[in-house]
Amino acid sequence: MQSEKILVINCGSSSIKYKVFRMPEENILASGLMEKIGEENSHIKHQVPGKIFEVNIIIKNHIEGLEIISKYLRDKNLGVVENVKEITGVGHRVVHGGEGFNRSVIITEEVLKKIEEYKNLAPLHNPHNLAGIMASRKLFSGSTQVAAFDTAFHTTIPPVAYLYGLPYCLYKDSSIRRYGFHGTSHRYVSRRSAELMGKDKYRVNVITCHLGNGCSITAVKDGHSIDTSMGFTPLEGLIMGTRSGDIDPGIMFYLAEKMNLDFKQLNNLLNKESGLLGLSGISNDFRDISREIKKGNERAMLSLEVFCYRMKKYIGAYLAVLGKTDAVIFTAGIGENVPLVRKKSLENMENFGIILDEEKNNATIPKEREISRNNSPVKVFVIPTDEELRIAYDTYQFVLKREH
Ligand code: AMP
Repeated sequence: MQSEKILVINCGSSSIKYKVFRMPEENILASGLMEKIGEENSHIKHQVPGKIFEVNIIIKNHIEGLEIISKYLRDKNLGVVENVKEITGVGHRVVHGGEGFNRSVIITEEVLKKIEEYKNLAPLHNPHNLAGIMASRKLFSGSTQVAAFDTAFHTTIPPVAYLYGLPYCLYKDSSIRRYGFHGTSHRYVSRRSAELMGKDKYRVNVITCHLGNGCSITAVKDGHSIDTSMGFTPLEGLIMGTRSGDIDPGIMFYLAEKMNLDFKQLNNLLNKESGLLGLSGISNDFRDISREIKKGNERAMLSLEVFCYRMKKYIGAYLAVLGKTDAVIFTAGIGENVPLVRKKSLENMENFGIILDEEKNNATIPKEREISRNNSPVKVFVIPTDEELRIAYDTYQFVLKREH
């Protein structure tokens, strides 16, 4: 298999994460994070094996950010190429692909138009993704540009699961439906679990739990997503770092009226001040919460309990939706690193065929492992996710096709 250098770009609202992979070897040649773009104190951390370079400079926008990244990648000391032409593919994470994209695609004018159209469905994400794509098309003009959509894996969800109990015209005329996110991760860990069970990827029913800063859970039937906890936006579903997940929408009307909160304040409350941070009053980071739990902090413990209870309800719902389940998979920051969350979310579920092995659950190596008892009818796995690597794979496939 021929080797290619693939750049993966993930443009957030004020950040750019990037990685250069040598594919298919999966070697990371360079990686970096640019933060606080558009602010006074932008920060860049750029890494190549054995070297870390950090600097604070003002970066006005994503275009300027990508220009700097392209310069670093060509730098004698910090770079990985002499000429940008050596980067044959650029994969972009795009959050919203609407109903239109069920897989990664090469970015054409038509694709750009669609991403532009979906801007109003994901105003916090797609405009920045798009800015990254436009800049990258200029800076890496010879390379194959690929878009990988967070929503793509979930386009197989049927209407019974994606429709809300709202007037149907809101779906038809305004595209209000559940879309789901984290698709790249759910797809990867579900495929990987099939490999670990020695089964065909289209013959497994699994529940995938992506628990990171954002959290979502997906029911995968015969290899296809048939339901997921995030909805029209990534706010619905599980409790997250700072997002509330499911709430009664009536609370919003109540707060608007009684506390005079406006649309912006409500938005902030649900997206930035809720979840683990809001419940614990400590942090959105489970490492801080775990530390406080060890010290006996009751609010920290309560936030963990609420988090896991919500998880358990969703797992129970998806067991019912799937009928027969082969495995439950935990991934991302919390899913991979917090045994107590896995334990509490699956407690007393022996009657549903889920029997966790405490010792395996508490072990830390290998990272990818089965954590259920040998006699557990439903297997439980920890499978580290790597969304950038998945995007690199998709991009690599397109580069190979183009070159043949
Ligand atoms: P991610 O979005 O997958 O990068 O996950 C980030 C979140 O995972 C953090 O905000 C933490 O809550 C959690 N996390 C990451 N590493 C650990 C760890 N070693 N122990 C506990 N929680 C962790």
